[in-house]
Amino acid sequence: GDNDIGDDGDTIFPGLPPLLRGHPEVHLRNGVIRAARLSATNEPDSESAFFVADLSSVYNQLERWRRYLPEIEPFYAVKCNPDPYVLRLLAALGTGFDCASNGEIGQVLRLGVSPDRIIYANPCKAVSSIKSAARTGVDAMTFDNEDELYKVARVNPNAKLVLRILTDDSKSLCRLGLKFGAPLVTVPGLLLKAKELGLDVIGISFHVGSGCYDSSAFTDAVGWARAAFDMGLTVGYKFSFLDVGGGFEDTNFETTASVLCDALDLHFPDRSGSGLRIIAEPGRYFVSRAFSLAANIIARRAPLSVVGETTEIKGEGDDQPSMMYYINDGVYGAFNCILFDHQEVHPYVLTMNGSFHFSGTESLQASSVWGPTCDSIDCVCPMARLPAGLRVGDWLAFNNMGAYTICAASQFNGFAVSLVTYTSGDGYGSQEVRLALKAAHAAVLNA
Ligand code: PLP
Repeated sequence: GDNDIGDDGDTIFPGLPPLLRGHPEVHLRNGVIRAARLSATNEPDSESAFFVADLSSVYNQLERWRRYLPEIEPFYAVKCNPDPYVLRLLAALGTGFDCASNGEIGQVLRLGVSPDRIIYANPCKAVSSIKSAARTGVDAMTFDNEDELYKVARVNPNAKLVLRILTDDSKSLCRLGLKFGAPLVTVPGLLLKAKELGLDVIGISFHVGSGCYDSSAFTDAVGWARAAFDMGLTVGYKFSFLDVGGGFEDTNFETTASVLCDALDLHFPDRSGSGLRIIAEPGRYFVSRAFSLAANIIARRAPLSVVGETTEIKGEGDDQPSMMYYINDGVYGAFNCILFDHQEVHPYVLTMNGSFHFSGTESLQASSVWGPTCDSIDCVCPMARLPAGLRVGDWLAFNNMGAYTICAASQFNGFAVSLVTYTSGDGYGSQEVRLALKAAHAAVLNA
């Protein structure tokens, strides 16, 4: 609910076991997960899979962003994970938001965020959607085609338009150029049309693709954006806005940041004098690491194969799993990231034979991990080396489960979407997170 922020400055939500707060030995992820469920083992749904969201991780990612990219305002890509408390925290800490639909716009506005902190970053919108956005005061929006200009001229002539150009996304997990982005050769024509329609194009955006593992993609992209700025000048637009999109990765963030700054120095050397505003639309970067998932082993079996008259256990060797574990979240739920977001996930053991205390020296066996539905595509992990002592009722956990997981989870086959347990962490930033959430809570009540 909305009234669940405690007043003692320490509790964020009732129901958060006191153990989760400031326990000196609690290792954040494992510790939180253990504490949360140990205290709940008598509850009827105590075996349900669940997320643990460490909001201090989101806080720390923002600090890190502001340290390495101080010139670039992050507009969090809501699509990545519209978790209400992530949104509240970021709203309170002053980020902007990249929304792709009226639903997302409404969700952000209801937090008390002003419409000028939102970019409607979907180049292909329904007329009715442009209209509703305009009614709520959201004027900044992207486009990449001529029809969009006619639509905008008709229903929101005050729009602040941002032309999304096509860049090389071949070094990314999820290529977005297949669907969006105007090739550079089409830019002069689009800008001429915008001029003819009397529209205000304020700048350029691009997206190097989500999960960009080669930082150099940003170098070329900024160069192409520069070329588009120059094309704007020719047509009579003096752009003041550059949106460098998403694609930022946790693991190579510093490298990407430095490559990006170098590219800006090269292509926009006079930017502070000319008052250029630069934003980005990071999604994954903020939330991936903040969420872990714990799932319960609800069944297991040996992979049997029937050959002629005889039944034999498949596997034995290292190349074939010799045990199949069935857990209570799968690719139709949180693990849709395997199908849609091209992820691989890696389970680790939380309990073994019902106990949190195990040596870690158990012999490992080749195993596979499956989701709960009656569909064979529902394979979470075709090969993992897991301890032979795992039983039904034991817990597995998965880290880096915050990006493109919950948001696209379905209830296929009647399985509920796993719920989130929150913590503000017990390390750096935890106090700031609590204060920010309180401020956010007040803003929501006032909105
Ligand atoms: N902006 C737009 C327009 C997107 O389509 C996406 C992802 O699909 C993002 C931002 C966020 O990308 P990422 O999560 O890689 O930062």
